[in-house]
Amino acid sequence: MAVGRSVQGGSGFGLPLAKSGRLLQGLAALLLQASPLLPWVQFPLLGMTLIVPGILLHGALVMAAGVFSLGLLAMRVRLPGVQILLALFSAWWINLDARFIAERTPYYLKKLQLSLVGVNDLLTKVGQNPIDVVPSGWQPGDFVALGVWVAAASCALLIVGAVLEARDYRRGMQVGWVLLGWPRCAACSARVYHGMSYCPSCRHGLLDGAPCERCGAWVQRGWKWCAQCGADARV
Ligand SMILES: [Zn+2]
Ligand SMILES: [Zn+2]
Repeated sequence: MAVGRSVQGGSGFGLPLAKSGRLLQGLAALLLQASPLLPWVQFPLLGMTLIVPGILLHGALVMAAGVFSLGLLAMRVRLPGVQILLALFSAWWINLDARFIAERTPYYLKKLQLSLVGVNDLLTKVGQNPIDVVPSGWQPGDFVALGVWVAAASCALLIVGAVLEARDYRRGMQVGWVLLGWPRCAACSARVYHGMSYCPSCRHGLLDGAPCERCGAWVQRGWKWCAQCGADARV
């Protein structure tokens, strides 16, 4: 039996979970890039709803994280650990911004209201209604708009995608090294590469599946036929 001859071609990308994981990460990276263009702050002012997109606050950094994440995916760099770090960094940054918005927006509106005291006195004297810029009944969290939530959801999605990808590669490899983009065999710690079916040092199976009954080539989970010799793999 020609064990060791492996079916390449499909490589690591052929793994269904890894593929969906990478698709999820791509979607998350796109959403992360788009979120700073959405409103991050909203409040009613003089009869209108004023919205401030995230890009005018600190959203550019989140957008940069999304661009970097998508760049890694587009160049087929398999670094799920870096994707998780990007998501955690963005989530931390978004949380800072959300707190900043919730605390500072009502503060500045009240400051603006105070600066209008003179004008309002004058308006009251001439029988007009005073200008009120502080929205009544608004909680601090109400000033945080949709974009922040989209960005936060993107971070969660990016982590889920990266974990799914790492989980699938992990089957025969050490998960920590997979996250760092330096996969090692789970059995003997030898350096291995994505797309290898067996560990070259100890013959440990690296992909999910089983050797073909007839020719020994690796048959990945979900395949109907052996890609090497055409034997029936549906057993
Ligand atoms: Zn090994
Ligand atoms: Zn075969």
